[in-house]
Amino acid sequence: MFKFSLKEKWFNLQMHDKCPKCEQTYEPEPGFYFGAMFVSYAFSTAITLPIGFILYNFFNNPNIWVYLIVVMSVVALLWPVMFKYSRAIFLHLFGGIRFNPKYSG
Ligand SMILES: [Zn+2]
Repeated sequence: MFKFSLKEKWFNLQMHDKCPKCEQTYEPEPGFYFGAMFVSYAFSTAITLPIGFILYNFFNNPNIWVYLIVVMSVVALLWPVMFKYSRAIFLHLFGGIRFNPKYSG
C-alpha cells in the first residue's frame, strides 16, 4: 500500500491511491486515516511505557528531561514504522477490505 518499504526509504510515506495488483482503493472515504491516529497513539504508548519502566528501574530514576529526550528520540525515529503500521492496521480493521487469495502471488 506504500510506494516504498521501510527498508527502501525509511522516511518516505507516500501511498499508492489504489493497489497496483487488484485496484483496491486505499482511501475508502475522505479523511479515512484520521482514525489511524488512535492506533498510532497505542503504538507510542507501547513504546513509552517500557522506556519509562527501564529508565526508572535500571537507570536510577533520572531527571525528567532524560525521560522526555529518550522517549521523544525513540518515537521520532520509529515514527515511520508507527505511521505505516497504524494505517495498515486501521485499513484492515475498518476499511471493509478482506484478503482475496486470487490476487496474491
Ligand atoms: Zn491488492
